[in-house]
Amino acid sequence: CKPLIMNNSLELPISKETRKFLESKHLLFINGEWRESSSGEIIPVIDPATEEKIAEVQSGTKEDVDHAVKSARDALTGEWSKIPSHDRAQILHRLSDEIEANFSTLSEIEVLDNGMPMQLAQYSIASHGVTLLRYYASWAPKIHGKTIPVSPGGAMNGESLTYTKREPIGVVGAIIPWNSPLIFAILKLAPALAAGCTLVLKPAELTPLTALYFGHLIEKSGIPKGVVNIVTGLGETAGDALAKHKDVDKITFTGSTEVGKKIVSSSVGNLKKVTLELGGKSPVVIFKDADLEKTVPGVARACFFLQGQNCMAGTRVFVHEDIHDELVQGVKEMAESFQIGHGLIESNDFGPLISENQRNRVLKYIKQGMAEGANLVYGGKKINEKGFFIQPTIFTEVTGEMKIAKEEIFGPVLSIEKFGNESLEEIAKRANSTTYGLSGSVWTNDISIGHRMAALIDSGQVSINCHAAVDSAIPFGGNKQSGWGREFGEEGLDSYLKTKATTIMY
Ligand code: NAD
Repeated sequence: CKPLIMNNSLELPISKETRKFLESKHLLFINGEWRESSSGEIIPVIDPATEEKIAEVQSGTKEDVDHAVKSARDALTGEWSKIPSHDRAQILHRLSDEIEANFSTLSEIEVLDNGMPMQLAQYSIASHGVTLLRYYASWAPKIHGKTIPVSPGGAMNGESLTYTKREPIGVVGAIIPWNSPLIFAILKLAPALAAGCTLVLKPAELTPLTALYFGHLIEKSGIPKGVVNIVTGLGETAGDALAKHKDVDKITFTGSTEVGKKIVSSSVGNLKKVTLELGGKSPVVIFKDADLEKTVPGVARACFFLQGQNCMAGTRVFVHEDIHDELVQGVKEMAESFQIGHGLIESNDFGPLISENQRNRVLKYIKQGMAEGANLVYGGKKINEKGFFIQPTIFTEVTGEMKIAKEEIFGPVLSIEKFGNESLEEIAKRANSTTYGLSGSVWTNDISIGHRMAALIDSGQVSINCHAAVDSAIPFGGNKQSGWGREFGEEGLDSYLKTKATTIMY
């Protein structure tokens, strides 16, 4: 695997450590050992910015998933269960130290695997990865139950004491997408381990590399064997086997709404608990008093961040007609200013889409938008000979019935609609007219309008004068078909715990 040269013959700045990792044999991590898949089959890993193969990983099977689940089950009641919660916290802090020590290698691998710009890889690993692990590490010793006063009567007729304990939910299966691979691995692992659970992680087949590198850091951090298992593989084989497994207590899934529905069906066999973080089509509502100096870059980032391959992306703008033209012009200038290219070149801030399939899907939506009468203001075309690049794309004169306004495109396509003197309720009705409800934002200098509009948007998360305010401590998740449950914050931890009530009669 030495073809890491861009089509313009510019050699990429890749460190020795990253090269060594890419050239090594990538195996499954089960019960603290690295082993081949029972199928003997492999999956090629492609750098989406060059279309070159950069590595090969194992294609895990049902049998491999069975091994991984068994090792997680054994670990659940083994040494791990006896480690005091303060020490569990220390172990998670040690894992964070390992990430910090290997920060530049992890960032390079994330860029090569996913295509994201280096600045974004570095920002997300530092601000979300490490912070999330440390945040949940500090929760571990704070997990406790309650004593509950009960009214006398029936079986409770006498002096008694009732208390609850919070116990780990058990063996967790985590299935994650390709758009922010390392962060999703950490977002699942951190609260699960803080709660005392054990885990089988199934990374996306398109982006398995940082999870595997992370596996080596997990080994170094002193987490007992079997507590974390990593099975790379296809969704319909390894993912399906994990979701259907009768000895898995909970599935935490991030991905498309379509696959989320399959996960729900698969979980029925043993009625395992399910958390789903799914797709989105988030509205951005801009009132005429908004500060355009902040709103224009905010809107451009909300949609084009990660080339629009972002579940929270603010892809549907509703803007007051008085400032429509100025806003469109500003966002167009921002789109024109993006430096498009390989993420390892640090000045680039806009990378490729993840795959040829994804690019074709996005181009199809763009064609549909034009056919349905939307006005293409900017972009819409493939760029570069090599790599799955596409221009940031802006449509105006969009209406709520158009496909580009209703369906999740998962690419850099912004739809802009106008409003005039409608009431807040009427604007909200338009903003809420999709099957999704993940994120959203309101831009105004009127504090009262900001809060009233935020209350009317039917999403799990709404920001005022910013978009997608994500933080370890802020609960995040979807309404409607954007998901079940919440991640991040205390609620995120809660979903890895179960409550046991115990009563003693004196
Ligand atoms: P996807 O649903 O195709 O795949 C996600 C994961 O599910 C992958 O690991 C895949 O291998 C696995 N999978 C596929 N079929 C499966 C099956 N039958 N059984 C079990 N597992 C299966 O999603 P994707 O294309 O990787 O990611 C894009 C989607 O993820 C978008 O819809 C996006 O909105 C969503 N997403 C949501 C959030 C959120 O927090 N709400 C975050 C990121 C991405």
